[in-house]
Amino acid sequence: MRALAKGSVVAVIGGGAMGRGIAQVAASSGHEVRIFDTRPDAAADAVDAIGKVFATLVGKGRMDAAQAGPARERLRAVASLAELKDAALAVEAIVENLEAKRRLFAELEGIVDAGCILATNTSSISVTAIAAGLRHPERLVGMHFFNPVPLMALVEVVSGLATDREVAATVYATAQDWGKDPVHAKSSPGFIVNRVARPFYAEALRLLQENAADAPTLDAVMRDCGGFRMGPFELMDLIGHDVNFSVTQSVHAAYFGDQRFTPSVLQQEMVNAGFLGRKSGRGFYRYG
Ligand code: NAD
Repeated sequence: MRALAKGSVVAVIGGGAMGRGIAQVAASSGHEVRIFDTRPDAAADAVDAIGKVFATLVGKGRMDAAQAGPARERLRAVASLAELKDAALAVEAIVENLEAKRRLFAELEGIVDAGCILATNTSSISVTAIAAGLRHPERLVGMHFFNPVPLMALVEVVSGLATDREVAATVYATAQDWGKDPVHAKSSPGFIVNRVARPFYAEALRLLQENAADAPTLDAVMRDCGGFRMGPFELMDLIGHDVNFSVTQSVHAAYFGDQRFTPSVLQQEMVNAGFLGRKSGRGFYRYG
């Protein structure tokens, strides 16, 4: 199966942490990228931020100036979903909420062409459920990137019950074309990575609550002895506690309240406090 053609339009809906990364990678790979966000200025801020990333990469000699200029030119913030009409692929990276995602795709379906692939970057919501209710659920697929998108090679290409095999194959080939290492997965709670990672976070949070050791010590042990690139608390701070907590809630609910996936009260309090990690300046560590 062929990847999307260079120069074709990729719509990115949601200009937050993930949407920015996806837009950067798509523009670097030769696509015209349109970013839409409901928050005023968020899409324009995303374009500016990606432009700055390109400039930094050029400064460090990790990107050719001759590539950075055109890649920046291929990025555009748009003010309405209607402006995504020409998209060949629309990747959604909005809030992790089933109803919000369903509403968005239902609206998009009325705007884009019949051949446009609809992709969701959901971390944990059933791809089958997101597609349900669409006129053409077979064109919706999970395209699950990892944070930070430009650096993380893995992409889970997640098929729901209705997903067309060719749609999944095109997204797989496109991820490869974007320099990623995709894997196919079926839509089951947490897919692959977020499923196997649940105990990593959960046991670390339990150890902390039991005062077994503090967060820096637990992180150092997992990094230095466990061989992980980041410890669990550093990683949760990077992902964002709101995102991480909602993934756990969603996996827990999807398994009918299985105790193995019980969300952490400590993490809930972090979310209640607004200590969301790097993005809010404070999580288990302080930033900025
Ligand atoms: P974020 O909060 O950084 O960004 C979300 C953006 O979406 C915000 O700018 C918000 O204004 C915008 N938005 C919300 N509702 C919208 C709507 N209806 N239409 C258009 N824009 C809307 O969140 P994020 O961390 O980028 O996560 C986005 C998605 O990616 C979530 O589904 C999340 O589960 C998933 N994801 C996150 C990570 C991670 O590590 N943060 C990793 C993989 C997948």
